[in-house]
Amino acid sequence: MLRPISALTTSALVLVLFATLNVSVTFGQSRWGQTATNGSGLGLGDATTITWGFVSDGTAITPAYSSESTDASDLIGFLDTNIGAGAGGTDLTNRPWYTVFDSIFERWGNVSGLSFSYEANDSGERIDNTVAPRGQLGVVADVRISGHSIDGQTGGNTLAYNYFPDHGDMVIDTDNVSFYSNSSSNYLGLRNVLAHEFGHGMGLPHVTANNSRQLMEGSINTTFDGPQIDDIHQAQRRYGDNWEENGGNDAFSVATDLGIFDGTDMLIGADANMGASVVEVDPDQVDFISIDNDTDVDFLQITLDSIYDMSFALDMVGPTYNHDGDSSYSLANQSDLDMVLLASDGTTVLADSNNAGIGVSEQIDMVLEAGTYYVQILGNTDATQFYQFGASGFSAVPEPGSMLALGTLGALLVGRRRRRIR
Ligand SMILES: [Zn+2]
Repeated sequence: MLRPISALTTSALVLVLFATLNVSVTFGQSRWGQTATNGSGLGLGDATTITWGFVSDGTAITPAYSSESTDASDLIGFLDTNIGAGAGGTDLTNRPWYTVFDSIFERWGNVSGLSFSYEANDSGERIDNTVAPRGQLGVVADVRISGHSIDGQTGGNTLAYNYFPDHGDMVIDTDNVSFYSNSSSNYLGLRNVLAHEFGHGMGLPHVTANNSRQLMEGSINTTFDGPQIDDIHQAQRRYGDNWEENGGNDAFSVATDLGIFDGTDMLIGADANMGASVVEVDPDQVDFISIDNDTDVDFLQITLDSIYDMSFALDMVGPTYNHDGDSSYSLANQSDLDMVLLASDGTTVLADSNNAGIGVSEQIDMVLEAGTYYVQILGNTDATQFYQFGASGFSAVPEPGSMLALGTLGALLVGRRRRRIR
């Protein structure tokens, strides 16, 4: 009989990390500088693809802790025994537990500029802090997952540890049979350990949030599922948001297409708009967008199907909480963003809104004819700012005789109303 997972969520179960020696940038902003897929030269805010895979049982692991065994990895056998082996075989993607691991990478990918690819091959090299092999497509994954005995399953219990980039390898404590075999909420205990450990694997340090509501706090927590708002913010600081993938949206030619505006309000980025306090992030929420630094630019494309009196609203969003000793850390006050409205050529400026001040909203109100427009959003601070962008509009009906003067319609509209999207 499995104990309820809540019985195992005390602070006695401590997740630990171990810093690798080859962290190449500031500790708090470490990230991958080279991957098998992208090659080298990756920097802060760059979308990145990381390959991941399992080492074979029998692969050596150099202990990182004095309590840790010198045994070879036994993770696959451990998972087969405690979660299930299915039909077995060499293709691990058929294992019942594979989808648990895969879902963690998919989730991190859905809330950041990270993408993931499973690497079925492994080079067999030792898991070790100083000799980590570089990922190589078809040969060895960027992130290699292993496991063996670390320190039993009682006392100041380590569940797993993980190396920082560009190493990223994970070691799971296979002593923790009761914890990892707990299938409650689709193996939430295992999933949050994996999501936390891979958080380190992408470069995230522990956060002291003082509210036990963030994944990257130092103790396991199963009162939520996966990355939370601070975790997502830290991930986007390093890898940008989901729109930075596949070439990104940093130019009008690759703008994020919001589609046809037909009078129905448009609103994006709303999942980070949780009000003043931290609210739990559900694992199906994906609408988190940001400007990740003072060189990032987002282009949005909107096509009007008619003439409208438009309002474009840009709001800085995110809760306030205790973050690493700052009791009034506010995700809504990270950067001063500006908004520019561009014509269909992507360069002609029709209007801009550049109110000064971190966290200050921007708004553009303008009558626009049918056609395609671009909204450019940019940051003035080397910080990552969640934003929410809304477009609303009302049919702009020109008074008789004014159809030839569309450019000066502003004063001739009937039925003008404005409202702001929140
Ligand atoms: Zn940790």
